[in-house]
Amino acid sequence: MRIVMTRGAGEKEFVRLEQEVRTLGLTPHRIRDADRNILTVTGNVGSVHQDRWDRFRCFVGVAEVGAIASRYKLASRDAKQTDTVIEVRNRTLGGNRFALIGGPCAVESREQILRTAEGVKAAGGQFLRGGAVKPRTSPHSFQGLGEEGYRLLHEAGERFDLATVSEVVDAETVAMARDHVDIIQVGSRNMQNFSLLTMVGREAKPVLLKRGASATLEEFLLSAEYILAAGNDKVILCERGIRTFSSFQRNTLDVSIIPEIKMRSHLPVLADPSHAAGKRDVIHPLSRAALAAGADGIMVEMHDQPEQAKSDGPQSLHPEELVDLFGDMIRLAPWFDRTI
Ligand code: PEP
Ligand code: MN
Repeated sequence: MRIVMTRGAGEKEFVRLEQEVRTLGLTPHRIRDADRNILTVTGNVGSVHQDRWDRFRCFVGVAEVGAIASRYKLASRDAKQTDTVIEVRNRTLGGNRFALIGGPCAVESREQILRTAEGVKAAGGQFLRGGAVKPRTSPHSFQGLGEEGYRLLHEAGERFDLATVSEVVDAETVAMARDHVDIIQVGSRNMQNFSLLTMVGREAKPVLLKRGASATLEEFLLSAEYILAAGNDKVILCERGIRTFSSFQRNTLDVSIIPEIKMRSHLPVLADPSHAAGKRDVIHPLSRAALAAGADGIMVEMHDQPEQAKSDGPQSLHPEELVDLFGDMIRLAPWFDRTI
């Protein structure tokens, strides 16, 4: 259910309503939407009789009470019509901004991440990515540097004034990332790791949630819903390619999901063409497609020596290719009503 407050309603009216919602065994969530305040109610809403809901209309400060049709109550545009805009270290994600995120698949060494960060900055990027823990398909593949990786990423972010993004996989890595990264990433393999989603939902930092390789749109948004329901309203979605019958790329970048999410949800959506394609020569056109489709940014892999990379070398751009790509995005963004 959604309780829209009147413009004049203040803290006292909010608290009164929240108390009433809790007496019904339900959970209230405050949402600020343009010039309106909304209380979205989750839980077993159907168990409450309509008469009881009607009574909410009599409370001081209530303008409107209505049902939310979608299953993802907090992520949906029914709950909040205006785009969610996330501020991270003086940078803005969402709204009319287009975010440029670059960096290696994995943090491999101090020299490597510093050189790469320098390249990302020189190309015009605002965010530095780099995995400290790598959920690899094979246990024999490079698994990441762990805590040292988060520390080095942090150092590189500070040195080149880039906001950082890095993946977490469990409570231990959430605790490590808390002190070192600006945006916590939940990888595609963990998109439905519901305890991890709830865990990052309790964190103060924004969460970048990647779509599972075979997740439907509804499953993706319901996973975001776990994070929102746990209290974290700073969720960024990321399309990173899905499994299809096409075998010419590692996955297929589902460009179509970008406008679909934009219609259904207020959350920002990024595209990761690197993990979709699995090879570097199509990253540029796929990035253009993502921008044109309405994405709020791209996240791409870059390595200063891709042939030496410990993971995802074939899809990692060379530094000069990142300069070309980001330069092109900066040039094209205004055509799509975006600023960088
Ligand atoms: C990554 O971004 O480092 C990564 C592993 O991507 P995904 O979870 O989409 O495979
Ligand atoms: Mn990778």
